[in-house]
Amino acid sequence: MTIRIFSKMLSLTVLSLLLVACERPPGSCAQPGEVALQVLGSGGPIADDERASSAYLVWVDGRARVLIDAGGGSFLRFGEAGARFEDLDFVGLSHLHTDHSADFSALLKSGSFSERGRPLPVAGPDGDGVFPGLKDFLVATLDRDEGAYGYLSAFLDGTAGTPMLTPREVQTGPPALLWSSEDLAIDGMQVPHGIVPAVAFRVRSGDTTIVFASDQNGSDPEFVNFAKDASILVMHMVVPQDVTGVGRRLHAPPSVIGEVAGRASPDKLVLSHFMARSLRDLEGNVSIVRKGYSGDVVLAEDLACVTP
Ligand SMILES: [Zn+2]
Repeated sequence: MTIRIFSKMLSLTVLSLLLVACERPPGSCAQPGEVALQVLGSGGPIADDERASSAYLVWVDGRARVLIDAGGGSFLRFGEAGARFEDLDFVGLSHLHTDHSADFSALLKSGSFSERGRPLPVAGPDGDGVFPGLKDFLVATLDRDEGAYGYLSAFLDGTAGTPMLTPREVQTGPPALLWSSEDLAIDGMQVPHGIVPAVAFRVRSGDTTIVFASDQNGSDPEFVNFAKDASILVMHMVVPQDVTGVGRRLHAPPSVIGEVAGRASPDKLVLSHFMARSLRDLEGNVSIVRKGYSGDVVLAEDLACVTP
């Protein structure tokens, strides 16, 4: 990405305290033996800042193994990053707002042209009130008879060599191990995001732990334990400090982000989920975050690579 307007708004003083993550050429985010986070989408639900909506990759040993969120625009960024559908071991959809899930079907269709045959684990929230759970969401999109994209129904039953999705819903309660292999483990826990069931994910590989807070209001102290001592903690700075009402019930203001990050004490805090309106006083908001958290702060950019 080219230098963005918000960067120009930052004073040199604040810039000297921040790390702005750098874009890498496709497929180069993590070299063999390394673990790294790549931001696919650093934006929110408003298409006003040249950013894709929420999506992140975790690269392990040179391959993009984990996809967290698939918001609008992540389809394009996935290809630009040099990620391959056949390399994915796990997909986590933190919640079923469009800015976290709208491109998932498009990524599946793209993947149907790959050589992949093995199943694809996918995790997301259970349903509550007006929001479906992950399994109902997949039926509503992919079911042969009821789905909007019924022509992709082979992802539900694995017919014709199509990789079958193996969905796992995360419920309220203690964190749960969702998937693991020799070199990778992924846990999830529900986090408070107003009335919207939402899930935070923790990806562990070797000595590296990357935690994705998702959209949340920061009111559950259990999340601090979940994120404790992470190598990288990704938090979404969506609203200004003076937010009230629905916005506050959904999202943590900068002071709460600082408190949560301060208690969790990650090596690096990645702030993401920006829109033009949340960038208006970025310098001020980051200053508030830093009152609670004194470690490295990274401002997310699409396609940026963040190493532990
Ligand atoms: Zn969001």
